[in-house]
This record gives sequence, structure tokens and C-alpha cells, in this order.
Amino acid sequence: MPFTRNWLSSGKRAARRAGVTRACVASARMCCERTALAVRPRHAVRSRILCYHSVGTPGWGVNDVTPARFERQLRLALADGWRFVPPAAIAGGSAGPGTLAVTFDDGVASVLTGAAPILRELNIPFAVFVVSDWSDGNHAFGEGTILGWREVEALAAMGAEIGSHSVNHPNFRDLSPGEAAEQLEASRETIAARTGIDARSFAIPFGQSGNWTFAASEAAARTGYTTLYAQAEETRFPGTVPRTFVTRFDGDRIFRAALGGAFDRWEEWF
Ligand SMILES: [Zn+2]
Repeated sequence: MPFTRNWLSSGKRAARRAGVTRACVASARMCCERTALAVRPRHAVRSRILCYHSVGTPGWGVNDVTPARFERQLRLALADGWRFVPPAAIAGGSAGPGTLAVTFDDGVASVLTGAAPILRELNIPFAVFVVSDWSDGNHAFGEGTILGWREVEALAAMGAEIGSHSVNHPNFRDLSPGEAAEQLEASRETIAARTGIDARSFAIPFGQSGNWTFAASEAAARTGYTTLYAQAEETRFPGTVPRTFVTRFDGDRIFRAALGGAFDRWEEWF
């Protein structure tokens, strides 16, 4: 999620106001750009992994999709002939063209309350990438905002793949190789200790071209991760698996354009 630093700052009122202003500017830019780019689909049908965040947590900003819109998007994709498969099937290359997968970053509680009932009804597999410190309760997002470990287990019991999204959502570009290794190792160890789940996939926080390093890739391989998910398509870091970001602005036309590749060279953060 993009504005963690602003949300977590408990400092001066002026600084908070400045943070909100930045968020609004970024939000407006995103809405305009996606609307403009949606006019030109770029690809023939292929496989695609969708990256969602929350489904019914308005505080998650541009990354939040309402449950009604989420269900509408899934039904639209099914009606258009897409077939949903586990993300690992696309990442591993065993899914054919015309396949889609659903993933969620940040471990937000509304994945269980807002998204999971819809996914279960439509029999759609999915993966959830949790931030281990946040699921341990170390966050400032408010009670009930983040999945606790029992809720993570409930999602796993539904068949969801559980992966890591780091210890506390840093930008890996800013970390030393040692710090990156610590994020990768400690989050995997915590997920195993709290749930018994062996997390083999890692979703890169922020997930775009400037948010990762070769040293982090090496540390991820040493730690035992087999799949690194980006949050970008053509602009992703080398060696990562592409994902298509879905935003709160994505009505039917923009969502279809995203499935057609209209945003495959687009980067969310700036
Ligand atoms: Zn994230």
C-alpha cells in the first residue's frame, strides 16, 4: 500500500496535512492515467495474475476495491471467457492462455470478510501475502484492520496459498543486503511459527521496478522462496513474476482494459 509512511506518522498536524495532500494528488493522477490509457488494449489473450489488496477497507485508499465491484470484476472475467487458476500455476508456466489468478497483498482483514465469500462461491483459487509484523499486531491501522494468524489459518483452510510480504513492508531499494535477508528470513520464520505454513512465495512490497535489488533476489533464493511476485508487468524487476494491479478506479471498462494489457507499462508509484 502506498501511503504507509503518511499513515504511520503521528507527528505534527502540518506534516499530516501535507501527507494527505500528496495522497490526493497521487490518487487523482492514478485515476486520470488509468482512464486515459484504458482506450488502448495492447495484447492478445494470455495468462495474467491480478494483484488486489483490500476488498472493503476504504482506508486502504486507491488499493481498496469494494466487495460489490470485486464480485462484478470476477463475474465479468468469467463471462468474457477467462478461466481462474491458482497463481502458482501461472507463475510456474503450467497454465495456458486465457487464464487468470487472484492474489492479495498486505494481509488486510477484508480479504477474509469481503473477498473470500465471493471467491468461495465462484470456486476461484487465490493467494494472500501477509506482512508478518502486522499480523503479529504491530501496526497502527486500527483494531480489526489486519488479518490475525487465526484468520490467516482460516484462509489457508479454504485453500488459499499463504505467502510472505515481508516483516514490516519496507522499500527493499533502501535496505542493505543484510537487512533484506532479515526481512525475507524473519517473515518466513514467523509465518511458520504462528501457523505451521511453509511460505515459498514472496510478494515484493510496492513491487515495481525500483523496489527490489539483485541482492534481495539472492537472499530470497537462499531463504527458500521459489517465487517472487512483482506488482508490475513489463516494468518489473528481472526474475520476478508479473502481476496486474487492480485499483479502486477500475470500473468495467478500465478493468477490461487492464486484462487486455493497457497498463502493462504503467508504474503506480512515483
Ligand atoms: Zn503491500
